[in-house]
Amino acid sequence: MEATVAEDHRPFLIAGRWEDRSQWAPASAPDSQPTLVAQAGAAEVCAAVDAARGCLQKGMPAHRRAEILDQAAELLGRRREELARVVCAEVAKPISLAQAEIDRAQSTLRFAAVQARTLGGRTVPMDAAPSGAGKLAFTQRVPLGVVGAITPFNFPVNLVAHKLAPAFAAGCPVVLKPAPQAPLSALELARVMTDAGLPPGWLSVLPGPAQEIGAAMGEHPHVAVISFTGSVQAGWQLARHAHRKKVLLELGGSAPAVLAADADVDLAAERLALGAFSYAGQSCVSVQRVYVDRRIADSFLERLLGRVRSLGVGDPGDPDVICGPVIDEASAQRLTGWIDQARAEGAQLVAGGSLTGRLLAPTVLLEVPHRARLIQQEAFGPVLCVQRCSSIEQALELANDTPFGLQAAVFTESIGVALGAARRLDYGAVLINEAPTFRADHMPYGGRGDSGNTREGPAASVRELTDERLIVIDTPSGGFEHD
Ligand code: NAP
Repeated sequence: MEATVAEDHRPFLIAGRWEDRSQWAPASAPDSQPTLVAQAGAAEVCAAVDAARGCLQKGMPAHRRAEILDQAAELLGRRREELARVVCAEVAKPISLAQAEIDRAQSTLRFAAVQARTLGGRTVPMDAAPSGAGKLAFTQRVPLGVVGAITPFNFPVNLVAHKLAPAFAAGCPVVLKPAPQAPLSALELARVMTDAGLPPGWLSVLPGPAQEIGAAMGEHPHVAVISFTGSVQAGWQLARHAHRKKVLLELGGSAPAVLAADADVDLAAERLALGAFSYAGQSCVSVQRVYVDRRIADSFLERLLGRVRSLGVGDPGDPDVICGPVIDEASAQRLTGWIDQARAEGAQLVAGGSLTGRLLAPTVLLEVPHRARLIQQEAFGPVLCVQRCSSIEQALELANDTPFGLQAAVFTESIGVALGAARRLDYGAVLINEAPTFRADHMPYGGRGDSGNTREGPAASVRELTDERLIVIDTPSGGFEHD
C-alpha cells in the first residue's frame, strides 16, 4: 500500500509498506531542492523484525529467491542512469564512478542468484565410526534468521546490495539501516527489489538515528545476525552491545602498497594514482601508504606525480572527473589538520594540499613520520604517503605495522618476491601488480585485526548467513547385518 506524501517527502519501507512519519531528515536529491526522508525508530525496528520473522518461518523456495535476484539485476540495469544520478547527488560520487557502482551492484545481485540456486550440503560417511554404521547422514544449509544490516555512505547502492542479495539467497529477511548521507540510494534499491517481486516483509529499509536503531537491532531477540559495514570505532562498539548474536564486521583500513626494486614503476604509478584518488580516496581499500625501494623511488615519484596531474578533479557531475569533494566539511578539516601535522613533523608536500570548500586537491606527501596520524589511522581522503625503504623486508615490516588488515599490494617482476610478500603481509587479501583498491564483487572480501571479522562477496556471505544442519537417518538393515 502506498502512503500519500508530498512530492519532496520520501517514505521508508517497512514490512512491505511505504510509510511516512512525523520525523523527517533532509537528503540530497538530484535535480531538485533537498528531499525530506521519513525517520524510523526503535518501534519500527520491532515491527519490521516481527514481519521479517513471519517471512522466515514461511520460507521461500530457492528458485523463487534466485528469480527475484536476477529480475532485480535486470531492473537495476534499466534504471542505471537514474540511480547513478541519485548516488552522485547524495554522496558527491563522480558520475562515471556512480555508474560503475550500479554495474557492480547488478553483478552482486547476479552472483547472489547463483548462490541461491546452488546452496547445498554434503553427505557424511557415518560408517567411518563403528557407532555410525547403519546410519545415513547429510547436511543442509539453513538460514540463520533475520539480519539487521547497517551500511556506510561511500558505496550506497553496491554495499546495500552486498547486504540484501546474499541474505535473500540464503533465505534470510533483512532490516536495513542505511547511511544518513544516502537514504535515497538505499530506498531506490529497495524499490527495485519490491518491483522484482520480493514479497512484503522480506525487506524493511529504516533511515533513522543510528544509536537507537542499532540498539533496537542489538537487543531484539529475533535478530540473529548484525551485519555492519562502516568505521572501526562504530563497528566494534556495536559488537560489544549485540547480545548473543552473530556480528559480522566489514570495517576500515589504510591500505599499503610495497614496491620492490624490480617493480614496473609505470604500472605502479598508474594503478596507485587511481587507487588513492578515485572518489577522493573514500574507499576502505584506498591506497594510503606506499613503501618504495629507494633505488626506484625517484623514477616512481616522477611518474606518480605525472599521473596525479592528469586526474580529473572537481565537479562530480562532470564525466571526466574522478576526484571530487569529500563527504562533509568536518572530513575536509580533519584531513587538512592531519596534513599540517605531518608537515610539522617533517613530511614533504609534493602535490596538492590545497582545500577549496570540501574539495581537497589530490595530495602526495613524502617521508611522513611513522607515528603521524596519516600513517597510523585511516585517512579516508585524497592523501597518499610515499615512504622510501632500504629493503623489501623493511617495507613489509612497515606495511604490517598497523592495526588494520584489509587489503595490501606488492609490485614486483619476481614471482618469488611476490609470493614471499603475499605470505608475509598480514591482510585479508594481497594484490600483486594491482592496487590494493581492487575489488570484484564475487571475491571473498574482508579484513583482519581492526578491519573486521568476516568475508563478504555472495558466496562467502551466504556461508556466514547460513548454518549447517545435520540430518541423520537410521537405515533399517532389511535382514542384512551391518558390519
Ligand atoms: P560510519 O560513520 O561508521 O557509519 C556507517 C553506518 O553505521 C552508518 O549508517 C551510521 O549511521 C551507522 N552507525 C554509526 N555508529 C553506529 C552505532 N553505534 N550503532 C549503529 N549504527 C551506527 O562510517 P561511514 O563514514 O559511513 O563510512 C566510512 C567507513 O566505512 C570507513 O571507515 C570505511 O573504511 C568503512 N567501510 C568499510 C568497508 C568494508 O567493506 N570493509 C566498505 C566501505 C566502507 P550514522 O551516520 O547515522 O551514525
